[in-house]
Amino acid sequence: MADLGHRPATPAEALDELLAGNERFVMGVRVHPHQDAERRAALAGSQRPFAVVFGCSDSRLAAEIIFDRGLGDLFVVRTAGHIIGAEVLASIEYGVTVLGAPLVVVLGHDSCGAIQAAHDAMTGKLLPGPGLEAIVDRVTPSIRHAHTRDITDQDLIADVHVQWTIDMITSQDTALAETVAAGHCAVVGMAYRLADGRVTVIPAAPAGA
Ligand SMILES: [Zn+2]
Repeated sequence: MADLGHRPATPAEALDELLAGNERFVMGVRVHPHQDAERRAALAGSQRPFAVVFGCSDSRLAAEIIFDRGLGDLFVVRTAGHIIGAEVLASIEYGVTVLGAPLVVVLGHDSCGAIQAAHDAMTGKLLPGPGLEAIVDRVTPSIRHAHTRDITDQDLIADVHVQWTIDMITSQDTALAETVAAGHCAVVGMAYRLADGRVTVIPAAPAGA
């Protein structure tokens, strides 16, 4: 029986579901939904994830664990420092326009190594090898943008970097941006705290900020 059950259909429902799962994780009362053989079988032919989670690759930021979800729930894209390139944009767009997810979450966190590396490179403490330059190059604009707003705290810079990433996703001339503009999908920034495991929604930056 391929009954995939109820799936959050709107951005608000999807956000509520994710925050409820994170609350269970924080409180230590996870219910591990959708992680059994029945769910695996029901999903074998198709998937309908209710959210795209684009987050940092940090090993402490595992999406299905921190949101207490299971198979078929989240379409997950992760890169160090959630840096964006063509593959990432296409993957997020696939999750929204083909799989129909009504929510995209950009997930940053405190003590992010990618932001620290970019900061160290800017201040001359680190000369990144060619293999790491892409990370530094794509985080540095967020740090510079934060500095123009007198934001120097690393964790607040992380929030700015999430907002910058959202701008990169929504400012492209894509079907994804159209879906967002039409209100069928929302792109929301979240900040994760490593110590207590809690995610908080980052308020959208005012236009032009
Ligand atoms: Zn990170």
